[in-house]
Amino acid sequence: MKHVYCSLFGHQFEISKEVTYAVKEYKCKHCKTEVTNNGNGNFVELTPKYKEINSVLERIHLRRLARKQQTILDH
Ligand SMILES: [Zn+2]
Repeated sequence: MKHVYCSLFGHQFEISKEVTYAVKEYKCKHCKTEVTNNGNGNFVELTPKYKEINSVLERIHLRRLARKQQTILDH
């Protein structure tokens, strides 16, 4: 259900999770609606399907970061 504030002023999203550099999850401060941006830069509702996609992206992202750090340590 939409918060009264949101229906008057629109959602006030803040980042709830940084999945990758490009993909983030956002949550509305007032009504807790969650959205994410997909690969095309569009905002979509954070459905269980997108949560799943994001958790896969996050895992790949973290693995890449770990590998990068490993490379730095090697030098
Ligand atoms: Zn809202």
